[in-house]
Amino acid sequence: MSAIPFVTLDEPRYGAAVQVSPLVRRVIANNPSKYTYLGTGTYIVGHGDVAVIDPGPVLDEHREALTAALEGQRVRAILVTHCHSDHSPLAAWLRDETGAPTIAFGPHAVSEPDPEIDDEIEPGVTLEETTDTDFDPDVRVGDGEVAAMGAGWTMRAVYTPGHTSNHMCYAFDEEQALFTGDHVMGWSTTVVSPPDGDMRAYIDSLRKVMERDDVSLWPTHGAPVTSPKPFLEAFLEHRLERESQVLAVVRFGHADIEEMVKQLYADVRVELHKAAGRSVLSHLIKLVDDGLVTVEGKGKAARYLPN
Ligand SMILES: [Zn+2]
Repeated sequence: MSAIPFVTLDEPRYGAAVQVSPLVRRVIANNPSKYTYLGTGTYIVGHGDVAVIDPGPVLDEHREALTAALEGQRVRAILVTHCHSDHSPLAAWLRDETGAPTIAFGPHAVSEPDPEIDDEIEPGVTLEETTDTDFDPDVRVGDGEVAAMGAGWTMRAVYTPGHTSNHMCYAFDEEQALFTGDHVMGWSTTVVSPPDGDMRAYIDSLRKVMERDDVSLWPTHGAPVTSPKPFLEAFLEHRLERESQVLAVVRFGHADIEEMVKQLYADVRVELHKAAGRSVLSHLIKLVDDGLVTVEGKGKAARYLPN
């Protein structure tokens, strides 16, 4: 696989509002994990008159840190990128505290695992981030719309489905920056887990960000990406390479996902193979849709054959 120029973050100062650009501060929540890296980064844009992006998980110390960071500030908008439990749950609390509207593409789409393609999900096995199904924004924004404005800042919605079907990035016009949520992260590739995760949509959304002229990308987790073009090219290349590898193993005669994962992720720890299987499934769904692969049977018994 081609190398992605991942960027890492120094030891975070949990709970502190750190100035990361002239108009942006970030407070990192102490919820590190394999999906959140060092933790959720909640952004505060503006001075005096502010927007908050992804208030984060329900953690008392994060709530207190935000309270301290927002003291004396007027919160104008609470923007949410998507409804995973490390991003949106504190939005309701912050709205109650400040009266500011919550703004997002919409609530998490109701998408139960589809038994036609999928009986892999077992109770108690966490294959992906958990979902905040309670979140329903006060204001729904569409692609390209101004999501919020304040003194010295304009936030514009950039619809980027793929990681989830309701994923929204927010462009900060004045700093030519894009808040990318989990769509593009500096430290890792993002999870694309069907049915709500969609590889075709994800790849299209990557291309959409590539066509923009952002100077910096600010993910919810990890360091900013300050050379977006080469980084995004490597990201896209990685996905396309994986897709062609999946197609190659199908053509070689590996018909079930477990076998494919063994071939494709031989260098990855076995504990991660189930999660890898979700990613392979997302590529297979796209390949079936492209007419390159046929699927016979359902769920665990599904067999994928080349066309
Ligand atoms: Zn997420």
